[in-house]
Amino acid sequence: FPVENIRNFCIIAHIDHGKSTLADRFLEITGTIAKGNNQQVLDRLQVERERGITVKAQTASLVHTYKGRRYLLNLIDTPGHVDFHYEVSRSLKACNGAILLVDANQGVQAQTVANFYMAFEAELILIPVLNKIDLKNAQPEQVAEQMHNVFDIEKSEILKISAKQGTGIDELLSAVIERIPSPPGDRSKPLKAFVFDSWYDRYKGVVAHLAICDGVIKKGERITCASSGKTYELTEVGIMYPTQVPCDTLYAGQVGYAMMNMRNVDEAQVGDTFFHEKVPVQPLPGFRSATPMVFAGMFPSEQTDFLTLRNAIEKLTLNDRSVQVKMDNSPALGQGYRLGFLGLLHMDVFNQRLEQEFDVSTIMTAPNVAYKMKIKGEKNIKFHGSDEVTVLNPCLMPDPAIITEYYEPMVNGTIISPAEYLNQLTALCHEHRGRIKDQVYIDNTRVMMQAKFPLSEILVDFFDELKSITSGYASFDYEDAGYEITEVLKLTFCLNGREVDELTMICHVSRARETASRICLKLKETIPRQQFVISVQGKVNQKVIAREDIKAFRKDVTAKCYGGDVSRKMKLLKQQAEGKKRLRRIGNIDIPNDAFLQILKK
Ligand code: GDP
Ligand code: MG
Repeated sequence: FPVENIRNFCIIAHIDHGKSTLADRFLEITGTIAKGNNQQVLDRLQVERERGITVKAQTASLVHTYKGRRYLLNLIDTPGHVDFHYEVSRSLKACNGAILLVDANQGVQAQTVANFYMAFEAELILIPVLNKIDLKNAQPEQVAEQMHNVFDIEKSEILKISAKQGTGIDELLSAVIERIPSPPGDRSKPLKAFVFDSWYDRYKGVVAHLAICDGVIKKGERITCASSGKTYELTEVGIMYPTQVPCDTLYAGQVGYAMMNMRNVDEAQVGDTFFHEKVPVQPLPGFRSATPMVFAGMFPSEQTDFLTLRNAIEKLTLNDRSVQVKMDNSPALGQGYRLGFLGLLHMDVFNQRLEQEFDVSTIMTAPNVAYKMKIKGEKNIKFHGSDEVTVLNPCLMPDPAIITEYYEPMVNGTIISPAEYLNQLTALCHEHRGRIKDQVYIDNTRVMMQAKFPLSEILVDFFDELKSITSGYASFDYEDAGYEITEVLKLTFCLNGREVDELTMICHVSRARETASRICLKLKETIPRQQFVISVQGKVNQKVIAREDIKAFRKDVTAKCYGGDVSRKMKLLKQQAEGKKRLRRIGNIDIPNDAFLQILKK
């Protein structure tokens, strides 16, 4: 394929607007997969199929004939959820254009707006598309109006399709070829390839996804990594069609995969440039690395599983570089890790992948954001001679007596909602310490609100509350907005006088009392009664600010089938034993492992 017959593009959209369905249609119409089977081919991970979300950006190459010429179309599927912005911005770097897909029934949503601006900044050519026009309630005219008002898109440029029924797909592929420019690469120049994704395959080892900017890459050649200077022999190169199909050569303008016997997880850095051995080129500017926003401790359920956990985390983080990994130690939980995630869903998905793909059972602490604190005195040896500390683990917060100022991470949030809920939305923003900055109507029924929030306020409940007050019609997205000065304190919880490390948290002063009472009550509800009384206390600086008691209770699981058959009794006892495995002991008290995230929710 000559460069002018190549198109590299992606689909960007709010979650559920039909990206994966459209990708399937593309693969079918170009004969890459057979019709009818293989639903959502690009969503390869088990969690993705289960939850119906795309987590990991995937690529696929398609061959399409247009006006008698054959074109190679490289499609990069992108995740839609706000936690995975980083993956989206990475994929955009390998593209020259994007399909902006909007559900004709739901209209422009918060992530549509966020994704639009990312594509706009990356200077991609956009093809605006209305999807789901087959739906009875589709309102293509009104949604086209929204796209015009919010993105300044000419209504005449908008294509109308049904990804589900396959209507308008051919026209869309034609538009991809006509409107999106071919990649700028030059085959006659020395090789310049950049890594836009890397992947650990259990059987094949490290797989790098490369975009070839200039030159040609062949199997068997030796290539050098610009940042490390290490040289590798290419054992396999190929394209994703839609799964790995080896070929001998990749040319400038193409995207594909490469394997080169990398052993160490750190060798395939996303954003790195590769060139032919002894033919160095100017490397491309690297990617801005993702900033983790949410931190949590992760420990093996059994200390003997520590090595299994370490191995699993190393492999998973190769596939997901946005996770920050640090060693952590806790007197109660032993040796483990402190992990940084892009958001709660990201954390949840990571945890689920650990269990599904590596079969490791873990204990996670309450998630928290990273606070910054100014320390008295210019140079404090304990804090590496700095007068500022970033606290990732609330248990390690310095003594308040030496702290002069506290800072917390902020985000700029975008909410799109039917205008009738405006009053409730305003109240919700204020409840979460948000400052409303802007409010505009995107058509005569919908409003877009921009507000600045402390990140800690939107982590756990905000989205659920937003959905519930707007009957599910509002959407929300946010981006990092730096740090602001704040007032926080450390809240600890004790069961019969023993501190529960997992629940130690840093919280805004205005929320301390309410949070302490709520969590004590939740603990009371969540912890099964045991054979003795348990006192639950919430403390600030050793001072008790909330308390509850859990009454004693002797639980006899077999009582209810007294006289029943023995196998039933055995089954119940077995269930109880299995249930026990997932318990965490604090002193002599058993707590269900997954209780901690539950406890934080309102
Ligand atoms: P993604 O989250 O953007 O990848 O969205 P999916 O492709 O997973 O689609 C979300 C849901 O919308 C699925 O239930 C699809 O079957 C449905 N869907 C996608 N395209 C269409 C369409 O054109 N018409 C209708 N009626 N449903 C669609
Ligand atoms: Mg999808």
